[in-house]
Amino acid sequence: MVYFDNCATTKMSDEALDEYVKLNDLTYGNTSSLNAFGAKAEEKLIDSKKIVASSINCLHDEVYFTSSATESNNIVIQGIFNARKKRKNHFITQKTEHPSVLETYKYLEKQGALVTYLDVDSNGHISLSELKESLTKDTALVSIMHINNETGVIFPIEEIGKIIKDSDLDILFHVDAVQSFGKYKVSVKESYIDFLTFSGHKMHGAKGVGGLYAKKGINLPPLFYGGKHESGIRPSTVNITGIGATAKAIESSYNDLEKNREYVKSLKTRIIDNLKDIDQIHINGTNTSDYILSLSIDSVRGEVLLNGLQILENPIYISVGTACSGKTKNAMLSNYGFDKDYVISTIRLGLSRYNTIDEVDYLCREIKTLVSFLRKHKKK
Ligand code: PLP
Repeated sequence: MVYFDNCATTKMSDEALDEYVKLNDLTYGNTSSLNAFGAKAEEKLIDSKKIVASSINCLHDEVYFTSSATESNNIVIQGIFNARKKRKNHFITQKTEHPSVLETYKYLEKQGALVTYLDVDSNGHISLSELKESLTKDTALVSIMHINNETGVIFPIEEIGKIIKDSDLDILFHVDAVQSFGKYKVSVKESYIDFLTFSGHKMHGAKGVGGLYAKKGINLPPLFYGGKHESGIRPSTVNITGIGATAKAIESSYNDLEKNREYVKSLKTRIIDNLKDIDQIHINGTNTSDYILSLSIDSVRGEVLLNGLQILENPIYISVGTACSGKTKNAMLSNYGFDKDYVISTIRLGLSRYNTIDEVDYLCREIKTLVSFLRKHKKK
């Protein structure tokens, strides 16, 4: 099989899998146990935090592990609402965030919060002046993702962080970095980020491991209550096997960050060059990630293309939108101003360093064959 759904999830890298097996044999203690076996697990946990810290330029005790980025986003948004609601009740986000952000804000609205959802233009970008005008003394938190998971649009988090800091209104900045972590360099210090979230399974780490950077000194109450794991921000026994494996994946991703990105970029360029002679094909978004390609092909339904590719003898797996928004719909793109026909003619290709040139050429060949077949047999 050929896998081009790497925005939804990725395979574990060999280094991560080796570490997972090793830890499962030798270091499976409870990090909160007083015995020496627990202390060994605790040591591994701290080492893993140091790896995250050095990749995003923070301190290791500003890093917390959770079960997913969904959980991390909820901890930040609900936590800040609970901590600040008596004096600050306004929140800002944008309309194309992941559901783990948008749905949490919808929940907060039911609890009495005021939420501003910034529009995006037809290329997927927010207006920085609109953002600036939306900041008030009542604003508690701004949540803007680094890279959009459906089109790969890159948001200018350095500029956004600076605007928020320069406002001098005591506003916190939260970045969902799930699609950039391990692929693009981010410095939480240089971008004035207070909270950053990531997910192990999107960058060749383990499933069931999420991460959260929370700047020291900010009161962040937990989502649920229990023991003292992760300083009480995320109580529950620490998933040390998954965390250690994810740390290995993070380490190797950051060691080869530029090399991996250059390689993946060459694959993306090859796909674009190869498919550009299809009549009426459109690339969605500008200034996009090298790892994500969103394409709309007029009068060809994305779902039909997806199915046609996966029933090949050597199946190709792609997607038509985010796996988290109900498998088949791609409603996020309607925020770009596209009509329903355009939206349903969209496919998403998620690339990884494990994809090969042969796979890319095979994908392009099969897309072209299917598109011409489908167009020829389209009901008038
Ligand atoms: N944020 C973004 C941008 C994502 O792409 C995803 C997953 O698709 C998530 C958050 C949620 O990640 P997780 O599966 O770890 O909950």
